[in-house]
This record gives sequence, C-alpha cells and structure tokens, in this order.
Amino acid sequence: MRRFRKAKIVATLGPASLSAKMITKLYSAGVDVFRLNFSHGAHETHQEAVNIIRDLEKKVKRPIGILMDLQGPKLRIGKFAKKSIILKPKDIFHLDLDEKPGDETRVNLPHHELYSSLHKGTDLLLDDGKLRLRVISWKKNSIKTEVIIGGVLSDRKGVNVPGVILPISSMTTKDRADLSFGLKQGVDWVALSFVQRPEDVTEAQKAIKGKAKIIVKLEKPMAIQFLPEIINLADGVMVARGDLGVEVPPEDVPSIQKRIIHLCREAGKPVIVATQMLDSMVANPTPTRAEASDVATAIYDGVDAVMLSAESASGKFPIETVSIMDRIIYRVEQDEIYRQMLDATRPQPLPNVADAITSAARQVAHTIGIAGMVTFTESGATTLRAARERPEAPIIAVTPTLATARRLALVWGVHPVMAPDIHTFSEMVNRGCKIAFDQKFAKQGDQIIVIAGVPFAVAGGTNILRIAKIEKFSEES
Ligand code: PEP
Repeated sequence: MRRFRKAKIVATLGPASLSAKMITKLYSAGVDVFRLNFSHGAHETHQEAVNIIRDLEKKVKRPIGILMDLQGPKLRIGKFAKKSIILKPKDIFHLDLDEKPGDETRVNLPHHELYSSLHKGTDLLLDDGKLRLRVISWKKNSIKTEVIIGGVLSDRKGVNVPGVILPISSMTTKDRADLSFGLKQGVDWVALSFVQRPEDVTEAQKAIKGKAKIIVKLEKPMAIQFLPEIINLADGVMVARGDLGVEVPPEDVPSIQKRIIHLCREAGKPVIVATQMLDSMVANPTPTRAEASDVATAIYDGVDAVMLSAESASGKFPIETVSIMDRIIYRVEQDEIYRQMLDATRPQPLPNVADAITSAARQVAHTIGIAGMVTFTESGATTLRAARERPEAPIIAVTPTLATARRLALVWGVHPVMAPDIHTFSEMVNRGCKIAFDQKFAKQGDQIIVIAGVPFAVAGGTNILRIAKIEKFSEES
C-alpha cells in the first residue's frame, strides 16, 4: 500500500472514531499518524487505541505513527450537570474550586494558581476564544465574571487568559503520569503543550530519555520569541492554532504560521499545521471553500503534515474529512505552481556530507527523472535531510528499526519500509531496487537513486549516492 501524495495527514482519535472499524477506514482514507489527545480520555481508552493501531499495522504491513499529545498546563473548566449550558451577554457567571457539577450560574475551574494572578477587567476566553468572560471580582476560591460574549459552554472546555503569565511548568503531574504510560505503550511522538521557553523542551527531553521524539506545540506568545532556540531543540513542531489564535490576535496567526514553517523547513524538522483546518466538517459533509484553501495554503508552503482534531475525534464525518483532506493535498501537489513554490523556498544545503549527498540526489532525480530515492537509514536523520530537499521523487526510507519507520510516517514525501541491515554494496543495490519495485514505486527499466553509508549499518555515515536500474532481481548476496 502506498500513498500518492507527499504531505501527510494526522488525525485525532476520539469518541467518533475510536473503534477498529473506524480506525481501519480512517487509515484507508489517508491517515498516516494517529493522535491521541491526553486532554481527554482515560488510559484504558488510549491503550485500546494503541492496540487497534498496532493490530492494523500488522494487517496492512505498513508502519503507522502514533502521536501522544500531552495536555500540558491547559486550563479547563470542569463538568456541567447537564453537559452544557448557554451563557448570554451580561449574565453573571462564577468559576470556583468546588468540584461539584456546574449549572447556569457557576462551574469548577480547578487551577488555584490562576486565582491570584487575576485583576478586575481581566478577560477569560473559553472554548478556543468563542466565549468571553470579564472578571468583576475574585476571592481565594472563586471568580465572579460578567459574560461579554456568550454561547454554548460544555464540559471540560479550555480557558485562556491572554497576557497573564502563570508560574507553572509546561509538564504537570498529570503529564508525567500520562507520559510514563504513553512511553510504555511505545508511542512514537510526544507533543508538548504550552511550551514557553527552551528549558521546557530540555525538561521534557530528560523525562522522555530518547524513548520517543518530541513535537513542540507552538501556541504561547512567549515561545514565538524563542522560535529558533525551541525549533533547534525539538524533533518536530506543531503550529497549534487553536490556542495560538486565542493567545495572539487572529490577524497575527497567518504570519506566525508561515514563519514557523519557514524555520522548520530551514532546520529540516517536521512541521504540522493543526486545528480548524476543516472545522465546518464537524457538522457538515463538505468543507467551506475557505477551509479547502487553508489546507491548500499549508501544503503550498511545504508543511510535512496537516492535522484534524474535532473533525476526526468527535465530528459527524471523520472519514469524509480525511478523504477530502487527502484530495486537497493530492490536487495541490499536481499543480505546477506547487513545485515552483517548493523550489523557490528550498533551504540551502549545509556544508556536511549528508546534505551534499541528499542535495545532489535531488538534482540527479530532477535531471534524469528517477522513480524513487531509497535512503538506508538507522535513526532517520539522513531521510530527514533528503525530505528537507523536497525532491520530486518519492523517498523510500529503508530501516531495520521499527521506531524509526513509524516516526518517519509523519515526514514529507517519505514512505518508510522495514528491512534488515545491509552489509555489502550489491545487497544495497539489490534491496533498494527490490523494495522500490515491491512497494510499487518503480517498474522494470526505471532508474532509482540509492543513498547509504559505508561502513554499512552504522548511524550517521551517509556517503554514497548510487543510480541503479531495475532490471531483474537476484537473491541478495
Ligand atoms: C491547538 O491548540 O491548536 C491544539 C492542537 O491543542 P489542543 O487540541 O490540545 O488544544
């Protein structure tokens, strides 16, 4: 099974999609990486999702990525007795430390750190900024507010307080417990929420100890001030537009998104654009034209992946949403302007052997029109450099390491394949050709590029670029 597009799709699992049948359908429709959102759901539910995905992996014989998204110090209200309420402008509404279910007059807000950081007139934004409450007065355990913008408010919705810096770490006690559970489950990527400083990433690295790769979610204004340092430390980045768009004015989001994509492409780190991409499809079977254009814009900008949240987790049309996202990506990637835009924004190779080889490979692929670029990789590092080149040819990443194959499922243009280490030059060529053929990237007579390192089976030693013609397959020597 191969995909006919370069950019990848990340889909969040939730009540609308958490069954073997739905996950299989979502995968067939185009999902490359499944996101487990630890802001919701019990460990047993996430465990079930992991089991289903790993079973599916065996059935389809393809590596599938799993991204666990830690809640982080996200402020959330508690639950309502009736699951949701309606707030109208000028209503008086209280937030407090009382855990009992809420009603039209109050709800629990279990973050005592916040209570002492408020002022009269501070605005609390709820549900990704859809509702606005203004602080009238506050006590040690309760906040009295006036509703400025009303609407439906349901269980566990997020609360943002722009401009208020909370004295809390980006990993909470819950995050640490979730992380240890997720790492035991063998998740491939861990997304860190509400990162503010480079130190937040180093703190997470210490806890993760290399067992998974780190995606930094960029959603706090302070993190934007430290972009180069944070991207340098991260293994990948998510433009988390839900919270970002609440924390900064909406008109700032597009330029911040473009700046992050530019810096990630420069660094050769995978970048995901997330949230509200096809939001109207939570309720409708087709997207708005503006949403189709939003997905397309991210693809024209050269992102590695686009992400679905509520659309696939709790919406009415998860499969249709993935199918449409797949079609939009495919359509953009056929457009000649897409290629021109990628070439115009391609970062320069750095003065090292891996970049010399991968940039030469892109040029060779373009000059002679090869069918695929096979990268033999241990850690995935060489494949990431090849993807940084955004070549026209598909990148077939061959690795003996399952974790590497699964992680590369997120990366632009990469089709990861598991295969044992190679030991000789002829084994390298034969296996490269056979895998490109078997995976339906090349047919007899086609030429492919093989990238590897001698001595073989040692990480970080890329130094060979070989052009090979698919003639016949011999037994590996
Ligand atoms: C976001 O804020 O855009 C996001 C992806 O994070 P979450 O879904 O956890 O709010």
